[in-house]
Amino acid sequence: MTDTKLTVVDGMVVSLDYTLTLDDGDVIDTSDGREALQFLQGQGQIIPGLEQAIYGMSIGEEKDVEVAPGDGYGETDPDAYQMVPHDLFPADMELSEGMGLRMRDESGRPLEAFVAGISPEGVLLDFNHPLAGETLFFHVKIADLRPGTSEELAHGHAHG
Ligand code: ZN
Repeated sequence: MTDTKLTVVDGMVVSLDYTLTLDDGDVIDTSDGREALQFLQGQGQIIPGLEQAIYGMSIGEEKDVEVAPGDGYGETDPDAYQMVPHDLFPADMELSEGMGLRMRDESGRPLEAFVAGISPEGVLLDFNHPLAGETLFFHVKIADLRPGTSEELAHGHAHG
């Protein structure tokens, strides 16, 4: 037995250092200065394009990963826009384009929406994920790897 090197396979708990950049060069998220992102590989705990790309990597290995919208937060859905009347909002609330809103649907579940436009007819809300339609550029480094415990495997997520 000479090959005892751990690599990323399903059932491994991965600690991942990452930096996420958009195609305009803006860094929008990073684990730099924080703890690495920890998850159980193969359970869809992270976006599919990134999970696929790290199979076979070992501790200390680094990689640049480009994730198309379809393997990231999805394409922009034109049906996810909704015009709502002004009187749905408190009269003293100042709305502006790009503003994020926390709302609830009919069954009380929290929803996040962005103001896409304001007109005399109403307020156009965008219910797409803020990163929908974006190509994501990750720089990742495997900070640590360990086999998931039987409890983690049964739950389908890492326990940290
Ligand atoms: Zn659990």
